[in-house]
Amino acid sequence: MKVMKFGGTSVGSPQRIKDVAALIGDKGRNIVVLSAMSGTTNSLIEISKAVKDGDPQLACRLISSLEERYKGVVDELFSTEEWRKTASEKTAVFFNDIRHTISSPDSPLLEKEIVSRGELISTNLMHAYLQEQGVASVLLPALAFMRTDEHGEPDLPYITKHLASLIEENADAALFITQGFICLDHNGEINNLERGGSDYTASLIGAAVKAEEIEIWTDIDGMHNNDPRFVEGTRPVRNLHFEEAAELAYFGAKILHPTCIQPAKLNNIPVRLLNTMQPDAPGTLIDNVLRRGYIKAVAAKDNITAIKIKSGRMLLAYGFLKMVFEIFEKHETAIDMITTSEVGVSLTIDNERNLDRIVEELHRFGTVTIDRDMTIICVVGDLEWQNRGFEAKALDALRDIPVRMISYGGSNYNISFLIKAEDKNRALKALSAEIFE
Ligand code: ADP
Ligand code: ASP
Ligand code: MG
Repeated sequence: MKVMKFGGTSVGSPQRIKDVAALIGDKGRNIVVLSAMSGTTNSLIEISKAVKDGDPQLACRLISSLEERYKGVVDELFSTEEWRKTASEKTAVFFNDIRHTISSPDSPLLEKEIVSRGELISTNLMHAYLQEQGVASVLLPALAFMRTDEHGEPDLPYITKHLASLIEENADAALFITQGFICLDHNGEINNLERGGSDYTASLIGAAVKAEEIEIWTDIDGMHNNDPRFVEGTRPVRNLHFEEAAELAYFGAKILHPTCIQPAKLNNIPVRLLNTMQPDAPGTLIDNVLRRGYIKAVAAKDNITAIKIKSGRMLLAYGFLKMVFEIFEKHETAIDMITTSEVGVSLTIDNERNLDRIVEELHRFGTVTIDRDMTIICVVGDLEWQNRGFEAKALDALRDIPVRMISYGGSNYNISFLIKAEDKNRALKALSAEIFE
């Protein structure tokens, strides 16, 4: 059994839904995970924002305009009046649910309730379209098996057990369809796996059913060697080790949600990144095999803040770093990069929520300097320390760019540079020119 996940653009129009139906229809008893049609989650977030901002009229206008879009989708997708009517009625139920939800504007679950409708609509449309085409499939409600635990982490034992019994109940099913992204929390309240989280759903399902492969179908032919949104002439990387893919996803390669590698890696399930628009392209295979001797790709992570603590007390003091880390732990802020010297330590965070409180506490160690609007550039590949020349090459590419921090040796797979956000495009281009051309 394979898991096949299709992202928002892959189901973003009636034609795309038809293309995906053709792709999944004859591939066997797989589990297909769908995102909401592209733009839908953004629109649903806008609707909840309008409600929270106390503008129900705007919310109603936005709901109606989204509903109009879906009326057009239904008209174009189905070829018979009978199925158009069935699908319209089903879609109308979801829009009425949204209207009902906004009638309780103070509900703490408002946004989660509203955004959950995106994936529910797309999967219902796909299920109905397959039926119209005479392709049998079973719609598995994600809310019946996808759960997070009391720490907000996916509850894999629960997911495994409940998904197994749903599959067992449908022993004759030729194909399963389910929603990405949405889940319930440990209290049974509506929740989700955060933006882009359908990739995570796919890998959790893959781990739960011990799938032979997890396929992430998107709008590009695999992981490229640099961010195609900023660099021209990028090329797909054919093979990546799980660790390399995890570094790239974490440090900004949007094609993969950062959390989605872990469940696949732990269960040794290969992940394949494929292009819905070019289904025969080989894409990228991510597995446990390290292809040695070269740099695979470059990625960039924005909105980084650097914090430097300069302290006389660090000199020869054991336990200093522990005290610094404890402050970040106390304020629930993860650290991305770290470099040290005899008199100080620099580190980066990507979440400024508790920055003021952190800085206030850090002041007791010495001088604290903050640099905002920074970007981490991450170079990923076989960067085992015995290999010679790769770090030099990456550094050389950045010769004209001011570098605030460098981190190397934390893993065998990455070297990271902290630069000003305004230098990001230049840095990405320079690295591609130096390393891949
Ligand atoms: P989906 O909606 O299918 O989940 P995403 O938009 O989340 O798709 O991810 C695909 C996009 O990721 C691509 O269109 C591309 O612009 C972007 N992207 C960023 N970095 C990379 C990279 N290194 N390789 C491929 N795509 C990348
Ligand atoms: N629909 C959700 C989003 O847009 C989840 C996903 O597409 O992965 O973030
Ligand atoms: Mg995505």
